[in-house]
Amino acid sequence: MSSVPHITLNNGVSMPQLGFGVWQVPDDEAAATVARALEAGYRSIDTASAYQNEEGTGRAIAASGVPREEVFLTTKLWNSDQGYDATLRAFDASLARLGTEYVDLYLIHWPLPMFDRYVDTWRAFEKLYADGRVRAIGVSNFQPPHLQRLLDETSAVPVLNQVELHPQLQQEQLRTFHSAHEIATEAWSPLGQGKDILTDPVITGIGTKHGRTAAQVILRWHLQLGNVVIPKSVTPSRIQENIDVFGFELDAEDLAAIAGLETGTRLGPDPSTMDYTG
Ligand code: NDP
Repeated sequence: MSSVPHITLNNGVSMPQLGFGVWQVPDDEAAATVARALEAGYRSIDTASAYQNEEGTGRAIAASGVPREEVFLTTKLWNSDQGYDATLRAFDASLARLGTEYVDLYLIHWPLPMFDRYVDTWRAFEKLYADGRVRAIGVSNFQPPHLQRLLDETSAVPVLNQVELHPQLQQEQLRTFHSAHEIATEAWSPLGQGKDILTDPVITGIGTKHGRTAAQVILRWHLQLGNVVIPKSVTPSRIQENIDVFGFELDAEDLAAIAGLETGTRLGPDPSTMDYTG
């Protein structure tokens, strides 16, 4: 079984640097898929209220035989639940669906700056943390002005920011901001959603050099940058492949070549204009 390194978050909690994402895994398949990931050695699972698979995810963890305290479970507050009271209610509903007493990490899914509710939402997150119902609180898709407001107007610094990040969108400025404030960077769609980047000749060439797949090269790149990474797959061989990334190292030449793949291309919405609350 692979040994996944941990990072220490700014509140002292330890988190696996590589986890498993379950966006677009239907609830009735989530139990089997998450069970497979736990068998393969993943100990961090990333779900969200919006993914509608918290129940299947929770069932898989409960049935796995892996003690709950050995699994790092993340879920996210959906956009329509922002606001102090609504957040507290939504958290209770997530916990009930997950069938657990606590989550390890709770994230605000999107900032929705046009609604201006993320500061109140964050105050509810601080209460959940103070009450011991979450071990760590963080955000997702926040940009520096949104993070800066939390830093200026509230007391808890988010432990991490989960953002779109892959070789075509490397988020260098945001990563620099995070480092300056002890906020960890977590990469969503780390494999570029399995699209073009996996056939890019720079990536496949580095894979050939190390005897590794394109996905393994990209995941290794994330780990060496210091990112937390949460690839998703429903394919058993890929679930295995994506955690088998600890037996090799990219060299400076490889890292420089991947740095050159930045195009600024987003696969998901722009967080400053994303306003979907459906
Ligand atoms: P990923 O970059 O993880 O790519 C997933 C896709 O790549 C799937 O189609 C999968 O196919 C394919 N794939 C996985 N492994 C391999 C491999 N080794 N070789 C070839 N293809 C592969 O995309 P996601 O968008 O799912 O991002 C990962 C996680 O990030 C999500 O599941 C979710 O937890 C989180 N996320 C968070 C967001 C946010 O707003 N906070 C937004 C988007 C994602 P298959 O499953 O068929 O094997």
